[in-house]
Amino acid sequence: MHDHTSEDAATVWMAQGNCRNYPPAAFFPSDGVGVDRARKICATCSVADTCLEYALHNRIEHGVWGGCSERERRRILKRRRSIAVVAG
Ligand code: SF4
Repeated sequence: MHDHTSEDAATVWMAQGNCRNYPPAAFFPSDGVGVDRARKICATCSVADTCLEYALHNRIEHGVWGGCSERERRRILKRRRSIAVVAG
């Protein structure tokens, strides 16, 4: 069956994120203090896992997603790639 709701379903979790109560700029920090502040908000977020996977899957480079900074996401992707190489 053609699922025309899939796109909405992919982002519906966003409405449940803790960040809905904060300005978006809080999740695009320019320094380490800002990253820590965003991470703390993500730490108690009920959709953090989905959020992180969304950012990884869509190769989103900027901002804090699922409690992970840009650098942390790059590290996760690199690790996953090396695991895939070993497994493949
Ligand atoms: S994990 Fe962080 S960025 Fe993702 S939805 Fe939750 S509060 Fe927002």
